[in-house]
Amino acid sequence: LLKHYITGFLQESDMELVATETVRLRIPEGLTAVMLKNLYLSCDPYMRFRMTKHDEPNYVPDFIAGEVITGHGVGKVLESTHPNFKEGDYVWGWTGWEEYSLITSAEGLNKINYTDLPLSYFIGLLGMPGLSSYIGFYDICEPKKGDYVFISAASGAVGQLVGQFAKLMGCYVVGSAGTDEKVHLLKNKFGFDDAFNYKKENDLNEALKRHLPEGIDIYFDNVGGAMLEAALLNMRLHGRISACGMISQYNLVKPEGVSNLFLVVAKRLRLEGFLVSDYLHRYSEFLEFILPYVRDGTITYVEDIVQGLENAKTALVRLFLGRNVGKQVVLVARE
Ligand code: NDP
Repeated sequence: LLKHYITGFLQESDMELVATETVRLRIPEGLTAVMLKNLYLSCDPYMRFRMTKHDEPNYVPDFIAGEVITGHGVGKVLESTHPNFKEGDYVWGWTGWEEYSLITSAEGLNKINYTDLPLSYFIGLLGMPGLSSYIGFYDICEPKKGDYVFISAASGAVGQLVGQFAKLMGCYVVGSAGTDEKVHLLKNKFGFDDAFNYKKENDLNEALKRHLPEGIDIYFDNVGGAMLEAALLNMRLHGRISACGMISQYNLVKPEGVSNLFLVVAKRLRLEGFLVSDYLHRYSEFLEFILPYVRDGTITYVEDIVQGLENAKTALVRLFLGRNVGKQVVLVARE
């Protein structure tokens, strides 16, 4: 449960694991719903927004304090009175952070037709982060062969895929990440041309100049803040910035301003935000694109799987401490 609305940095103590005495695993008479056994839950940065009470409606609704946290997950259908699902189906989509969920709005669920692949992929590589990488890179950045591409939070759920897409396109790709282990992954597993640990750099502008001396054509921004400011200084004329997320700001009580923004004008840049939720109609196109690459091993994906619902709180906080290596997943049950 989310114990209470929060301001400032998310703590494990803001969430609570509660055992209920009885669980009714049958759909009540007359209700159109799906009874799910949750197998995997997704930890995503946007969940932090939902934990603060907003005066104005946000792009996602606030959670309800005292109630079960919701998010994307993968589950097995135990019972269904919804025409699109039947017992034994595997699904991904909106569910609760609990062992079993009664889903009354089953339009938020998608049947998984490719059960030969790891089911957890449907909250990462083949789920919302995957589609975000696809739209955020191909649509927003309009990449060309030879472009200089820079990606922040590059080893995460979204970043690791953007880098691999950029390599497929024939770009020169540099990533930043917050540990040497992640930098090693970027260069040796995901095929980035270069990478650096931004936490070891005193001057991000200087670090970008060192790793991308020709400048940046495409910046895929996952973090905002100081890294965005440094990237602006290093953008080439007519560069494109895909504003995917700004995780450096999510726990701040007052988000920082961005310096160097006039460079958008001076360098004729395009800085464009997007929300994956506007592109769900492109999901089957995305699957058609990515599945052959996944099956032949061209695209690889690293997950960080924490075992047990009791460790979900820790797993979510890890995102904001940079402790996840790859897509952060919680394994609730194997079957
Ligand atoms: P990640 O798997 O990349 O996990 C978050 C990572 O962010 C951490 O591992 C850490 O990596 C980095 N980070 C955490 N805190 C900070 C900080 N204060 N400053 C800089 N970096 C920090 O998450 P996702 O791939 O799921 O998400 C990446 C971004 O994409 C987020 O901003 C998210 O909100 C956004 N997003 C946007 C979507 C959209 O529709 N627009 C959809 C999905 C995600 P490191 O070690 O590198 O610091």
